[in-house]
Amino acid sequence: MRYSQYFIPTVKETPSDAEVISHQLMLRAGMIRKLAAGIYNYLPLGLRSIRKVENIVREEMDRAGAIEILMPTVQPAELWQESTRWEQYGKELLRFRDRKEAEFCLGPTHEEVVTDLVRREVKSYRQMPLNLYQIQGKFRDEIRPRFGLMRGREFIMKDAYSFDVDSAAADLSYDKMYQAYRRIFERCGLNFRAVEADTGSIGGTSSHEFMVLAESGEDAIASCSCCHYAANVEKAEARPFAAPEHAEPRPLERVATPGKRTIEEVSSFLSIPAATMVKTLILMADDQPVVALLRGDHDLNEIKLKNLLGCETLEMAGDEVVERVTGAPTGFAGPVGLKARMVADLAVQGMRNFATGGNEKDIHLKNVNLERDCAVTRFADIRNVVHGDPCPRCDAGELEMWRGIEVGHVFKLGTKYSKALSATYLDADGKEQIIFMGCYGIGVSRTVAACIEQNHDENGIVFPLPIAPFHCIVSAVNYTKEEAVREACEAIYRKLADARVEVLLDDRDERPGVKFKDADLIGIPLRIVVGAKNLAEGKVELKQRRGGEVELLTIAEAVEKVKGMVAAIG
Ligand code: ATP
Ligand code: MG
Repeated sequence: MRYSQYFIPTVKETPSDAEVISHQLMLRAGMIRKLAAGIYNYLPLGLRSIRKVENIVREEMDRAGAIEILMPTVQPAELWQESTRWEQYGKELLRFRDRKEAEFCLGPTHEEVVTDLVRREVKSYRQMPLNLYQIQGKFRDEIRPRFGLMRGREFIMKDAYSFDVDSAAADLSYDKMYQAYRRIFERCGLNFRAVEADTGSIGGTSSHEFMVLAESGEDAIASCSCCHYAANVEKAEARPFAAPEHAEPRPLERVATPGKRTIEEVSSFLSIPAATMVKTLILMADDQPVVALLRGDHDLNEIKLKNLLGCETLEMAGDEVVERVTGAPTGFAGPVGLKARMVADLAVQGMRNFATGGNEKDIHLKNVNLERDCAVTRFADIRNVVHGDPCPRCDAGELEMWRGIEVGHVFKLGTKYSKALSATYLDADGKEQIIFMGCYGIGVSRTVAACIEQNHDENGIVFPLPIAPFHCIVSAVNYTKEEAVREACEAIYRKLADARVEVLLDDRDERPGVKFKDADLIGIPLRIVVGAKNLAEGKVELKQRRGGEVELLTIAEAVEKVKGMVAAIG
């Protein structure tokens, strides 16, 4: 491709409406342009990277035995009513009517459509295992579309769905997808973790998320310093601390804490560490109040508590409810004498003589002891793990915390959709059985953004070779004026292209500084600089975008080296 005839509208200034680096760089590098909130045009460079990810995904899906299909974007409401998601999905589902007033939606995901297809076509156990996938545009009317391709409303996803005769067979399909996902993100050249994830309302049995590690990631993940344990913090298990302390209970003490409400305020006012206090949170589970007790320096994990209570909604109670439950304004709640259902975190179990709210304005209590003073309904793991917590799986490791961007998700669905839509088959004895399903998503467009979030420097994008829009850029110094330069560039361009190296020839009539800046910005991994001075000695420069290593080589050497590096990615 010749730069002068191509379409790479780069921009010098950082766009003011782009908060994260990948969004800024994708706009500046001319990869994407916004059409509406969360809706983007993919320009040539952006599209090329997206296609690279798609191709890797497609190869690995095919290799794992999945079969490509393409389902419609527009889906009839009836199917969603059958699965009951028409009511449940909420406003993320963009709904509309056709000219006959029939209701439809734009597909945010395709469980209903694929289950409908399979219930019509798959009748016998002999037709399974079956795994169908597609790479397609999805639409989700996200409440806060942001960060460019990271959280768009229209985006590209690979979604696969497996169909099996029973739970054990479904586990095998899941493992295959898990392994395929590992290969996909490895081949993309990304630093990632596969983490255990919460199965949430779908209530499946098991789920892993694939997280690209990056500071700007929306997800917090924990992994063990010794073993393979890694989990989303939403799900990461806290190991109970060793034996409870054996301190003698001291007499309860009331202390005045005028205007001190938060753990920080009270702990500094009383000069005691937050870890020797108990935090008392009042929540509403559906429409019942529930009290959660946590060590002062720990945070509630609402997902764990919600799963434990089995409620539909869980939210912090308003001031009115707090006052009704505790008899005191917000900020002074404590477990002593409370009548409500009370769940205490496992880390609170071993605490003795702690400080906590007194259920009275401007009063806290010291020397509280659960056995003596409180009626805890239940002890359970309801907190977020923190850095340094002991690993829940091995005896040696500690948990380390990372930020991650979710680029993929594998999920055992069980029979949720097959039951709702009556997707059944006949087993070897001619008996009707329910199909077991799994679903497997990859955010293709998000993967490109996540890659940039992880791979950039102050000059621009630093693409890993496998998903760079081009492998190599040939930057000509004075292409238009120097005939020797022009000829050398053309020869290099031809040789590389013949060897299936994707090469961009910067033949523009621009100053070298401009060309180098653009080459850095768009992040092409390999750059051959052709200038008259070096050329007089038969040499060109080969520069690697990552690490900045520069070598002076003959044309033949440079071409061979680039060919070798590209061949190595397969
Ligand atoms: P998130 O928690 O980020 O909203 P999700 O759990 O809704 O993700 P899934 O329904 O599992 O996501 O979708 C599969 C994959 O699609 C995700 O792993 C992610 O990579 C991608 N994805 C989801 N929502 C978006 C979006 N709004 N923009 C871009 N990619 C997305
Ligand atoms: Mg979502």
